[in-house]
Amino acid sequence: MSSKVLLIGLDGATFSILDPLMATGVMPVLKDLLASGTRGELESVVPALTPPAWTSLMTGRTPGHHGIFDFLRFEFRPAGRQLRILDAQDVATPTIWSILARHGLRSSVLNFPMTFPVREFSGNVVPGWVPWRHLRLACYPRSLYDRITAAIPGFNPRELAMDMALEERALEGCHGEGDYENLIKLHIRREQQWFEVAAQLMREDPTDLTAVLFDGVDKLQHFCWRFLEDSIFPASPSPFESQVREWCLDYFRAIDSFVGRLIELHGRGNPVFVASDHGFGPTVEVFHVNAWLRENGYLSWADAANVEQKHEETLGMGTMAKRFYEIDWAETTAYCPTPSSNGIYITPPSADGTGVAPERYESFRRELADALLAYRDPATGHAPVARIWTREEVFSGPQMNTAPDLTLILRDAGFVSILPSDRLVKPRVETTGTHRPNGIFAAAGIGIRRGANVTDLSILDVAPALLHALGLPVPRELEGKVPVAVFEPEYLRTRPVTFEAPREEDTLVMAAHSGGSDPRMDAEIMGQLRALGYME
Ligand SMILES: [Zn+2]
Repeated sequence: MSSKVLLIGLDGATFSILDPLMATGVMPVLKDLLASGTRGELESVVPALTPPAWTSLMTGRTPGHHGIFDFLRFEFRPAGRQLRILDAQDVATPTIWSILARHGLRSSVLNFPMTFPVREFSGNVVPGWVPWRHLRLACYPRSLYDRITAAIPGFNPRELAMDMALEERALEGCHGEGDYENLIKLHIRREQQWFEVAAQLMREDPTDLTAVLFDGVDKLQHFCWRFLEDSIFPASPSPFESQVREWCLDYFRAIDSFVGRLIELHGRGNPVFVASDHGFGPTVEVFHVNAWLRENGYLSWADAANVEQKHEETLGMGTMAKRFYEIDWAETTAYCPTPSSNGIYITPPSADGTGVAPERYESFRRELADALLAYRDPATGHAPVARIWTREEVFSGPQMNTAPDLTLILRDAGFVSILPSDRLVKPRVETTGTHRPNGIFAAAGIGIRRGANVTDLSILDVAPALLHALGLPVPRELEGKVPVAVFEPEYLRTRPVTFEAPREEDTLVMAAHSGGSDPRMDAEIMGQLRALGYME
């Protein structure tokens, strides 16, 4: 008989922020958890981005296998180019929840991306990245939403899920004290709602695995990095800076208390895992990749005047289609469709003779990558592009052909801009936060080593670790491994890691997406992506 397992996700959490917060008494619960268990940095996937990284954590597979490279997928179709919001139907490999269901175990999964629409599941799901108006129908089972509403006084789906009306002002850029206050306090209330839902399910319907994701860590760090990182926070802060920092600390205090109360409900001693999908660090400049492609003869704007007016557009698929009209595709051989991807797609050959022919592809791609790496910002002499991955290097697998041909890692690990610009590299007005490859991992409870610090952990290892802690065999096709250094040797001796053969239905590549998405839902998700800077 195995213990129940609790997984707490902290989107974007990094030890460079958490360690000082633990040391100064802001996060005593997390400090105790780490002291009584095992910790380590968790290497994310390329790209270190929320949808591919959480999907790798949920599946133990790399993006080349699970097929999620971004929030959106850029496709060359006979009818034209398409940019489509990805969802659970695009995840091409089984998730840990579907593996549990196959073994007769149940999960409660709260706020994870790429979990809507719910597939192959046993237990409870409140999916993440669903606009609040759609939440009732998105929950699984269908009765769950009404059960939550009835059981939790003050349950507010507008604060729990995505609501652009609430978030727009806070997210469209923080300017004054009031903007920061709105943003931070909204996220404290949101995490409170997710905590209440998790706590209610743990009391009313405990499952073998409870997984809850708090995603405000990522959002606060994007907007409030300069108030959070000790080394750049002023030694003599203004009253405004002190106040914003104090609100940020309130957020982390709230997270710490939710973690503590979830552990109590879970039962002390039962295994608890804490993980983030990627780390975080500062970003100081913006690289305009499509403007660079244009200047170097790879991309052509259709109508320069039209390209300039951006910000009044309504959001949604219409906007994305419009963005494509801004490109003269016959004269474009390479294009970056989204900032979040940091990816360049090379135009495939078409019947009219445009695009890059297969026999030219390798040399064309090499030449393009070399030119990007050689580029120096004339103002500073720095190379904005630090590294470029080909898709064979990082995305090898059955889904590789839907990945960008090239993926850029920038000097400050930031996201590119896809917008036109006279200046290819622009300093940011203020330092903000951006993703880093190193996230966090922590575990404590029965079978977990106490006081250990483990290196070389991959986000791919989390699914095997959870399966092992739940007493299940690890499917052989998983690319991660059970991180044996996390477990007590005596525990591993009595409960050795076991494996199971791939199952036929698990190795089937999913059928193509049915494409029946809801345009209003897409528009809300696009609004969220733009507010967060993942779409421009
Ligand atoms: Zn993330």
